[in-house]
Amino acid sequence: MSNLQINLGECVKVYSKHSECTKCQDICPVSAIRYDENIPKIEDSCIDCGGCIGTCPTEAISLKDFNTLDFIFNHVEKKETLISCKKNIPCLALLSVENIISLAILAEDTTLDLGHCSTCEIKTPLEDEIKNNIAEANSYLKNIGSSKKILFDDISYEEPKVEETSNRRDFLKRFSLKGAVKSKIEFEKQIEDEEEKSVTYEDSANLRKKTIPNKRKLLFMALKRVEKPENFHTFMHEELSFTSQKSVKDSCDNCSMCYRICPTGALQSDRRQTKIEFDALMCVKCRLCHDVCEPEAMTLVPYSTKSIFEPKIDELINFKVVRCDECANYFTYFGGEKMCTRCKIEEEEAKSLWGIQ
Ligand code: SF4
Ligand code: SF4
Repeated sequence: MSNLQINLGECVKVYSKHSECTKCQDICPVSAIRYDENIPKIEDSCIDCGGCIGTCPTEAISLKDFNTLDFIFNHVEKKETLISCKKNIPCLALLSVENIISLAILAEDTTLDLGHCSTCEIKTPLEDEIKNNIAEANSYLKNIGSSKKILFDDISYEEPKVEETSNRRDFLKRFSLKGAVKSKIEFEKQIEDEEEKSVTYEDSANLRKKTIPNKRKLLFMALKRVEKPENFHTFMHEELSFTSQKSVKDSCDNCSMCYRICPTGALQSDRRQTKIEFDALMCVKCRLCHDVCEPEAMTLVPYSTKSIFEPKIDELINFKVVRCDECANYFTYFGGEKMCTRCKIEEEEAKSLWGIQ
C-alpha cells in the first residue's frame, strides 16, 4: 500500500469544482492519481516517488514516512552536500522550486545528483520537471541578487554498503526514518525566532495567521538572508511557477469568490467588500482565483522582485458600496441599482409567482 496521503482540506480541487488544477495527475509517472468528482484519489500503482508533493501548490500531498521540511533541516544541520535518489530522497522531483531555493540559501554548496535520471524507469515526466525546477530556482536566485545557486551534476551516487532493493517502497522505508529529525514544533520555533529578528517582514503576526504552506514559510526564512539588491528584476508571469502578481479587470462584478476562496489569504477584502487587495508574498499560484472568476477578470501580470524586499499589499480594484433599500445590507453599486442582487432575485421570483409583470 502506498505511503502517499492527500489532505483534502488543502486541495484546491476540493475547495471548488471549478478548479482546473491537475498538477499532481500530470506529474505522476505511473498514472496513480485520478479525480473522482474532483476529489483526488491515489491508486495502488503509486510508487511513492513524491513527484506530486513537489508540484502541489498548497502542499496537500505528503508521504507518511518522509517529511520534506525535516529532510531540509536535517540536511542543513548536518552540513550535508549531496542529495541523491540513491542516498537520501525518494526522487529529486519531490523538491519544489521553493524547496530548492531555500536549500541553496540555507545550505552550503548542495549538489543535486542527476546521474540516475536518464536511466530511471520513471524518468518521464520527472526528469524534465527536476531540470525545470532547478533552472527556475537558479534564475530566481540570480535575479534577486543572491550569489547562491543550487549545484547539479551527473554524480550517479551509489550506496556501497546497502543491499540492492528491488522494491522502491522498501528503499524508502530504509532511509526515511533516520531522515526525520526536526519536528514541526521546532520549525515553528525557528520561524518565530526569525520573525522576531526580521525587519523586512514587519507584518509577521498577520502572516502567521494565514494558512500558507510550510515550503513558503521556509522560503521566507531563507530570503531574509539575502541582501536587498540595488535594482529589482521583473519576471514575466510564465517564468515563475510558484508565485504571481495579479491585476483585476473592470469586468469584475465583485462577486467575492476569489478572495473568499483563496487558500492562503493572498487575496482579501474588507468588511464591506469595498476592494480587492493582493499580497504577492502569500500567493502560491494555485490559480483557483482565476478558475472561479466567471467574467475572467483576474489576470496575471509581470512580477517584480520588489515585492520580496519591500512587501506591501496592493489594492487591485475598489468599489462603491451602498445600502440595499430592501434589506439594508451593503452591496456593490455600479450605477442606478436600489437593491442588492439577492433582494432583486427574490422580488422577481415573487412577481413571477403572483403573475405580476
Ligand atoms: S496538485 Fe494539490 S491542489 Fe492540485 S489537484 Fe493535486 S492535490 Fe489538489
Ligand atoms: S491569489 Fe489566487 S493563485 Fe494566489 S494563492 Fe490565492 S487563489 Fe491561489
